Amino acid sequence: MEIQTEQFTAAVKRELQNSHSRAFLKLMPPVLNMKRDIGLSTFPDIDAAQAYGAAIRQEAMARLPELLEEFEKNALANGAKVFWARDAKEANAYILHLAKEREIKYVTKGKSMVTEETGLNEVLHKNGVEPWETDLGEFIAQQLHRPPFHIVGPAINVPVEEVRDLFMAKANLKEPTLDPVQLGYAARLFLRDKFHHVQMGITGVNIAVAATGTIINVENEGNIRLTKSSPKIQVSVMSLEKVVPTIKDALHLIRLLSRNCTGQKLTAYVSMDSGPKKKDEIDGPEELFIVIIDNGRTKIYQDLKARDALRCIRCAACLNICPVYGQIGGYAYGWAYSGPMGQVLNPLLLGLDRTQDLYRTTTLCGACKSVCPVGINHPSMFLYYRARDVLGDPYWRGKKRSGSEERFFQAWGSAVTRAWLWNLGIRMVRPLINKDAHEGVISKMKGPFHGWFRTRDLPAMAEKTFHDRWKEMKKCNNPVPAKRYSKN
Ligand code: SF4
Repeated sequence: MEIQTEQFTAAVKRELQNSHSRAFLKLMPPVLNMKRDIGLSTFPDIDAAQAYGAAIRQEAMARLPELLEEFEKNALANGAKVFWARDAKEANAYILHLAKEREIKYVTKGKSMVTEETGLNEVLHKNGVEPWETDLGEFIAQQLHRPPFHIVGPAINVPVEEVRDLFMAKANLKEPTLDPVQLGYAARLFLRDKFHHVQMGITGVNIAVAATGTIINVENEGNIRLTKSSPKIQVSVMSLEKVVPTIKDALHLIRLLSRNCTGQKLTAYVSMDSGPKKKDEIDGPEELFIVIIDNGRTKIYQDLKARDALRCIRCAACLNICPVYGQIGGYAYGWAYSGPMGQVLNPLLLGLDRTQDLYRTTTLCGACKSVCPVGINHPSMFLYYRARDVLGDPYWRGKKRSGSEERFFQAWGSAVTRAWLWNLGIRMVRPLINKDAHEGVISKMKGPFHGWFRTRDLPAMAEKTFHDRWKEMKKCNNPVPAKRYSKN
């Protein structure tokens, strides 16, 4: 998938005109939030449960190198083969080589964000190995050549008429129908056929357990379990931050993930695999390959502040609560990860210079932080990225401000901390932005303020701040009425 984070503004304009997605966004996030609330209410103490999740991920981050070594040792002892990939290219080349070596023509895939990140499907397809996504939403998105709209529902915004036409063209749907059950059945028949002869399955990993070398997948459709159990060769692709110390930790994260994601106490399927099929087992792969991908995460890990982004368990709670995502949906973010989770992760994986709009397009309302089950403080990360960017930090490929921008913000900083200076300034500027008097000269100017003042005013600043007034009031036990400059 082509990375399009730089085209964020254009994509937002386009998506704001997408009436179908907009109508859908009015419905989907509130419903998922409501389900989440109901799901979380089954915990005896919600705050304690979320705090425990944060502590597990914090510990996993603090001990990441040691946990990864422990995981590898135990996975090897279980009979799995482990490959460490420094970047997307290495991971894709390894999986492609594996498929070619075994003369594999097609693979089935379970939903995997990290293979979206590495562009595995494109590499396989170009080299003659057809990848079939088997999650229903991923299947639709893949056939439409679109990125995921939402982590939980990658094609949840696609109109049912479009799905019907797609399935008639590509999934052997015989009779046109808009019945979701019939459409789902057609996809199931089509994909079942793929499972019958598949030689190699590829899935992601939700959680990896260091103490036992176990990989865990959670899902509702059963397609990952089929992908893991039907073929002789199983490839599990995980980014290196997925590891936690023990099964007990993993179980708690599964409880949190299900509730925060879809409001379920537990997803329909939880698959735990410790190595390939054993002698007395009837199904499972004969060979299990675990590909552990770095792709920039070691660099993230070395920055103590940025490291927090690696805690994410991809539950999507932050997407559902975000007022920005709720208006624009997932396509505008231009890559595999969208919403606040993508705004936190993409700048670190792609560089601050390619993702400026992502960490600037935020109200800093903190809604994402308030729901995150692993304690990521999104707003503070956005501010951190902005700071690294304006300082031109080479580590994160920040773009230093130009001289004129620098001077503008210095002047702005002086004005907003001195009420008299601010109010003098706006008295001088207001005639230029006043639509009635001068037809909004500044509003019409091209540049950063283009259009800004068409619907906005420059408010005057109170002479005294709220804190000053509060202190005075407490001193004399008498409220000080606010005195504001009049508008004209
Ligand atoms: S960052 Fe978002 S997706 Fe990740 S764990 Fe927190 S709420 Fe869930």
